[in-house]
Amino acid sequence: MLETTHSPTTPLSPPLAPKLVTTVRELRAAVRAARAAGCSIGLVPTMGALHEGHLSLARASRAECGFTVASIFVNPTQFAPHEDFDKYPRTLEADLQALASCHTDLVFAPQRDDVYPAGCSTAVEPPRVAQRWEGECRPGHFRGVATVVLKLFNLVQADVAFFGQKDYQQASVIRQMVRDLNVPLEIRVCPTVREPDGLAMSSRNRYLSVDQRSQAVAISRSLRLAAQLAADGQRQTAALVDTVRGVLAEAQIDRIDYVAVVDPDTLEPVVALSGPSVMLIAAHVGGTRLIDNWKI
Ligand code: AMP
Repeated sequence: MLETTHSPTTPLSPPLAPKLVTTVRELRAAVRAARAAGCSIGLVPTMGALHEGHLSLARASRAECGFTVASIFVNPTQFAPHEDFDKYPRTLEADLQALASCHTDLVFAPQRDDVYPAGCSTAVEPPRVAQRWEGECRPGHFRGVATVVLKLFNLVQADVAFFGQKDYQQASVIRQMVRDLNVPLEIRVCPTVREPDGLAMSSRNRYLSVDQRSQAVAISRSLRLAAQLAADGQRQTAALVDTVRGVLAEAQIDRIDYVAVVDPDTLEPVVALSGPSVMLIAAHVGGTRLIDNWKI
């Protein structure tokens, strides 16, 4: 941790804002200096519009690594043309303040051309675990995600990278990519951070109107109910899926991309529960597409 500590007699001042760098050259110099000072490097990749979910990753990195880099980059290649790339919230000032409170050391907020230089035409073919669910609903999404994440890994050269369970399939894709391509870094997956009523925190929640916000809580409620039924002995996943769909229907969430109970590693559907599984949901509330998941 490259910062001075306060002696007990000096008054506490607000935490220092992280250093902001936008170029690869500055990034490399800062990471090199941290390494030379003996720090391990933690990376928290984000698209900004930070909330407590992101900050939990920054805190996990701070707890484990001597120097934490958060990247903020709204990655164009993971959005389809009809998706929300243009309207995705960009809140750099607030993000820097929030990261200061977690003692993040460095923020890397590159320009598009630094990540995708002119003529760049190589991409990562995502692993099999990317095929279903988000992969089917958002063709090309995981190719964009895997490519940008590998680029960030190469740019930052961190020792450990932190991801959220909120994007369960994304974490599986990245873990598999790291294994398959011998990327020399460790992946940590941190628990989903939720609002007090259970809604999984997401940068996209800010698109919701007040009414949609109260509808949206049905997603986590339905998952919790299904997990309870499973804990009470229901083994048939079709019954769990019906329960979830019923709760969503009551809340008038009728555009559901998928509800599935899957193997936690392969993400293949499970018919009868016989061990740990994960329930995955993607549904639209108004014009906002939300995803969530629950281990059962
Ligand atoms: P994003 O900015 O949406 O690309 O997310 C950046 C990272 O934050 C990803 O690893 C996400 O899984 C993680 N993340 C997003 N929301 C949450 C949450 N509610 N709890 C924990 N991690 C989250």
